[in-house]
Amino acid sequence: MLQRSKSNILPAAQTALLSAGLLAATQALAGGLRAELAVSSAAYLPYEPLTVQVSLSNEGNLPVRMLPWETPLAGLFSNALRVTHDGQEVAYLGPMVRRREPLPQDYIILAPGEHRTVSLDLAQAYAVDQPGRYEVSWRGQEIEGTQAGAKGTGTLTVSSTSATFELLGSRDRPITKIDPMAAQASCTANQLSLLNQAEQAASRSASGAHQALANTPEASRASAMRYVAWFGAYNASRYQTITSNFQKIATATSRLTYNCTCEDMADNVIAYVYPTQPYEVTLCAAFWDEPISGSDYSMASTLVHETSHFNAVAGTDDIAYGPSACKKLAQNNPAKAAQNADNYGFFSVNSAGSSMSKSESF
Ligand SMILES: [Zn+2]
Repeated sequence: MLQRSKSNILPAAQTALLSAGLLAATQALAGGLRAELAVSSAAYLPYEPLTVQVSLSNEGNLPVRMLPWETPLAGLFSNALRVTHDGQEVAYLGPMVRRREPLPQDYIILAPGEHRTVSLDLAQAYAVDQPGRYEVSWRGQEIEGTQAGAKGTGTLTVSSTSATFELLGSRDRPITKIDPMAAQASCTANQLSLLNQAEQAASRSASGAHQALANTPEASRASAMRYVAWFGAYNASRYQTITSNFQKIATATSRLTYNCTCEDMADNVIAYVYPTQPYEVTLCAAFWDEPISGSDYSMASTLVHETSHFNAVAGTDDIAYGPSACKKLAQNNPAKAAQNADNYGFFSVNSAGSSMSKSESF
């Protein structure tokens, strides 16, 4: 599913430069990242694969180190492309995956002039079903990354071209309906017992998050450490949305059904859902290595994360993964943190035990 161009081996000196970090930290890095999209045909017949080539190149003067997970370079496992039909955005119907904490080897390095290319079939994940003109571009304009010479991570801006094509007739939407009974039958008795405990822990975490937010007096909200850590600068309407989302997540955990057959996914995938298909969660191998609760990566936080993705619940995205990237997202872009599934998972389990107000004790 993932096709990459042959990448150059980065000279050792450049790699050393990247890890050493020689200059002061900057929030916005001078990037030079450019995404180019191309279609193999200007017009597609119904039932033809809707092939789009996505290429990310480093047009800057410095090597860039980045996590490709939430980008199209990782394939269509999140809503990583922007697809419009006559100007209206088309629904993403593909899976939303949760991955384990990023390790150094999960990052890719793009040397100056280097590019990575993937070939994707839009029909596998987007509601491209009506005839007419479509436009597709790279969705996320900001990527967390590091650049040689800059200390720490920062935000790299991606500029994207768009590709257009015509669909010459209607076609079926990609996903067929899940059979919850058949899916649940794929779990062993032991797995179902663990899931039962995990579901109760997720429900407690989400209800606890909802209560902590709802019970914090308005005057204390802007300085609530737990809130600010995961959702950034206080804003009254955003706070209300987040509070209400946790209530919806807590209610929805009792409706979850499980699929224990996870095929064709990378080793770093913990679990995934289809946002348009509540309330089924597919568990992958890495899920069974997690503790039930009590840490950032636990079955409880995974279930909170996954439940938040359903459009019938909070319709969250995967914009950033892992505690450090999620805290940065909260600082740099609170509106995006409020849409990011991992921020909900981490806030709910509150592994640091931080409080909402000075009087609250954990
Ligand atoms: Zn996710």
